[in-house]
Amino acid sequence: MNNEKVIKLPENRCHFCGKESTLLCDKVKGEIRAIDLGGPGVLSNGVVTCDKKICKECATHIDGADYCPDCVEILKKALR
Ligand SMILES: [Zn+2]
Ligand SMILES: [Zn+2]
Repeated sequence: MNNEKVIKLPENRCHFCGKESTLLCDKVKGEIRAIDLGGPGVLSNGVVTCDKKICKECATHIDGADYCPDCVEILKKALR
């Protein structure tokens, strides 16, 4: 019998709860001068964001950006 159940996990899973993620953390971690974003040898300028995959439930929406629980903790500490 070839009746194995294949459990397909969503490709984008929340870093925190494992549910399907629809958002990426927008917390800016710093600026970069050059990084191989588009592939080896492709240099560009920009900002580095946390980019952790998060679902709606784990994300905290602040000022038009979505933050992961880790970054929310960092923000809270920074406000103390
Ligand atoms: Zn989640
Ligand atoms: Zn984050």
